[in-house]
Amino acid sequence: MAVERCYYEVLGVERTADGEEIKRSYRRLAMKFHPDRNPGDPKAEATFKECAEAYEVLGDAERRQRYDQHGRAGLRGTPGHDFRNMHAEDIFSMFADIFGAGGAGFGGAGGRGGRGSRGRGGVPQGYHLETEVSIALEDCLTGTEQDVPFRRLDVCKPCTGSGAKPGTKPDKCATCGGQGQVMQSGLGGMFRMVTTCPTCSGRGTVIKERCESCKGAGRVPQKRTISVKIPAGISDGQVIRIAGEGEPPPPEQSPTGQGKHGDLHVVVRVAEHEHFAREGDDLITTRAIHYPQAALGARVPLSSLDGDIELDIPPGTEHGTLLRVRGRGIPNLRSGTRGDLIIGIRIEVSRKHTDRERELLKELSEIQGDPIGDGKGKGVWQKIKESIGG
Ligand SMILES: [Zn+2]
Ligand SMILES: [Zn+2]
Repeated sequence: MAVERCYYEVLGVERTADGEEIKRSYRRLAMKFHPDRNPGDPKAEATFKECAEAYEVLGDAERRQRYDQHGRAGLRGTPGHDFRNMHAEDIFSMFADIFGAGGAGFGGAGGRGGRGSRGRGGVPQGYHLETEVSIALEDCLTGTEQDVPFRRLDVCKPCTGSGAKPGTKPDKCATCGGQGQVMQSGLGGMFRMVTTCPTCSGRGTVIKERCESCKGAGRVPQKRTISVKIPAGISDGQVIRIAGEGEPPPPEQSPTGQGKHGDLHVVVRVAEHEHFAREGDDLITTRAIHYPQAALGARVPLSSLDGDIELDIPPGTEHGTLLRVRGRGIPNLRSGTRGDLIIGIRIEVSRKHTDRERELLKELSEIQGDPIGDGKGKGVWQKIKESIGG
C-alpha cells in the first residue's frame, strides 16, 4: 500500500471547508464509490471505506482539530472504526443520518440512542379495528344505542408492555443496536432498504425472561364493550368510527403503548324486514285489494313501519300501481327529513266464490262485455314498466 492520503484530499475539500461542505462532499463520494454501484470493483470499495474513515475524523469537530494539529498521530487514543474490515452495509448504516436527509427509506434511523417513533408526525399510531353490529329496520327510524363487544390487544399490565418478566428489563438488541431496523442493500445501490430487525422484530430489545401474562408479546387480547350510538337514517353497511377505541401503538413503536390509539370501525348491518324493503330513504311494501275496491276506490288500513295508517285507494286503481304516502319512510341521515312509504297495489282475483258473488260477477260481466279491442292495451306495458322501475 502506498502512502496514506491526507483526509482533506480524500474528501476533495479545502482545509478551510466548513462542516456542511465536508458532509456534502462525503455524501457525494460515498454514493459514487458504494460497492453496490460498483460491483466487483475492489478499488471503488477501498475508496468508499477510505472516505468513511476521512469523514469520521473531519466530520467531528474535536477529531478534526486534533488531526489538523498533529496529523494521524493526534488521533491515537481516540480510536475510530476499522473501516477496512467493515461491511459497506454497516458503514452506510453508521452514517445513515447523512444519507437519510434526502431519502425516504431512512425513516427514523437517525440513531442517537433512542428509537424514535415511526408514525406520521412523530406520534406512534395503533391499528384500527373493525367490528359489526346488527340492528332492526325499525331502529333506522329513531336511531338506537347498542353495547358493542369487541376484542383488542392492550398493553400487558404486569410487564407494562415490555414483555419482560416483571422486575426484569429487556436488553438492547445486539443485531440492530436498539434501532429496531437494519439496512439492507438493494440492487441499485443508490437506494437502501430499511427493514425490520429479524432478531428483535423491530422492538430494538430482546427479552431474556418472558412475562408470563403475555408470553413476551407485551400485549394481551382484552374483551371490551362500548356503547355505540347509531343515528336514525343509517343504512346497511355504513361505518361508525369511534376514535381512540382501536389498539395502542404496537410494541415495536411504543412498548408502553404511549401514543395514539387506532380507531374502532363499527360496521352497521340492518337486518332484512319481513314486510318492508328499503330504497334510499323510502320504504317499499305491498297491499292486496279486491277488484271492487280498485274500481270504486276505498280507504283501507295499512301497517307502516311506525304504526297503522289509512291508505286511500283512488277509483280505477290498476294492479301494480304504486301509491306513495309522504313522510312515512326513513329519516335522512343528514337532514332528518323522512322519505316516503311506497305501496305496490296487488289486485287479488279469487277463485272461490259464494253463489251470491258468482251471481253478481256474472251480471257485471254481462254488462261490461269484453275489453279487448278498446285500443287501450298499450297502457299495460307502460304500467308494468313503471312498476318495475319503481
Ligand atoms: Zn434488533
Ligand atoms: Zn406482559
